Amino acid sequence: MSGKLKEVDPEVAEILQAEVRREIGEIELIASENFSSLAVLEAQGSVLTNKYAEGYPYRRYYEGCRYIDQVEQLAIDRAQALFGAEHVNVQPHSGSQADLEVYTAILKPGDTALGMSLAHGGHLTHGSPVNFSGQTYNFIPYGVDRRTERLDLDQLRELALRHRPKLIVVGASAYPRIIDFPAIRSIADEAGCYVLADIAHIAGLVVAGVHPSPIPYCEFVTTTTHKTLRGPRGGMILCRKEFARTIDKAVFPGMQGGPLMHIIAAKAVCFHEALSPEFKAYQQQIVTNAKALAEALSGYGFRLVSGGTDNHLMLVDLTLKEITGKVAAQSLAECGIIANKNEIPFDKQSPMITSGIRLGTPAATTRGMKEPEMKLIAELISQALHNIDHTAVYNEIKQEVKKLSAGFPLYPELLSN
Ligand SMILES: *Cc1c(COP(=O)(O)O)cnc(C)c1O
Repeated sequence: MSGKLKEVDPEVAEILQAEVRREIGEIELIASENFSSLAVLEAQGSVLTNKYAEGYPYRRYYEGCRYIDQVEQLAIDRAQALFGAEHVNVQPHSGSQADLEVYTAILKPGDTALGMSLAHGGHLTHGSPVNFSGQTYNFIPYGVDRRTERLDLDQLRELALRHRPKLIVVGASAYPRIIDFPAIRSIADEAGCYVLADIAHIAGLVVAGVHPSPIPYCEFVTTTTHKTLRGPRGGMILCRKEFARTIDKAVFPGMQGGPLMHIIAAKAVCFHEALSPEFKAYQQQIVTNAKALAEALSGYGFRLVSGGTDNHLMLVDLTLKEITGKVAAQSLAECGIIANKNEIPFDKQSPMITSGIRLGTPAATTRGMKEPEMKLIAELISQALHNIDHTAVYNEIKQEVKKLSAGFPLYPELLSN
């Protein structure tokens, strides 16, 4: 850091410094968050933010793109190697944007599609009525089985054969189990439709082979780059060669103007990091940690949706504890343990209140935490949620959080005195 920000705009500099200290001092359990590397941050904060580069590598509408072309091509080549995809578009500004771009490429307004219900763990962009997807297309929601709380493939098949959608969207933001892509492919083949796998949450697990890859089974795959993938905040589309032109046209000029070249450079750095053996070990540890956290929480009497986890996250059902997700998330935050309230399947509370919290391990694992720390975090969560508003207990938990975070340094280079 050059120190310029502090000189030019001390107000913003101070807010950024406070956020650095917050990230260092708290325990981050939001399943969609992570800590990207200094290398990623450096690329994001680079002069590439200055450059207009509408178009694609070596086919631009602006001059002066010779280095821009190199960096975008590098990002594309690395993403292809990482995922084994036939075609990659690294320009989507976000995960939501990537989904929208696939929809506009292959659907017309009013076309029918199937998407996982938001209330069962799907994402807003998979057809929620409050989102462009639900307002533009005829999205039919599918969900999980009431008993197993796992994806109800019988229901999905029945809906696909009844409604004959053009597209099945599969993927989730709050689903703790493996997604069976081959089974969904065979349903889509029976119904005669495309499959889009939105792996925003699990992309890191997929590249490490810790979650099966959707690539062989789906025409389209979208992802974010900032969740388990640990890169800059952004999106990406992978598709089969035959759809390359259609997808590229939907992104630019269809939906976007100039690409965020500083973010694309940071995506290239992220993919470079993800191609390393350490990244694979990191993803394995995320899942090991999630299992350890889930097991320890079960031991304290918390019911987990579907009974546990196969991936990086878990949903804790607080119904029997007689606290809402909202109160639980706020109480944990008071102690410095950061999570989010989340609907559980068939929730009786509203989405603003909810009966659950969602916990994920990607960020804590980036700090180097392992099974013993997961056990300690579970103990702290249990203490906090069994002693709501108990000041003495909360003060003790805060001290423990401070000790724990201090033992796992993060971003020492970003601290100014
Ligand atoms: C996070 C997420 C997105 C959206 O990503 P943004 O970058 O926040 O727009 C899309 N789909 C799924 C499944 C997600 O979890």
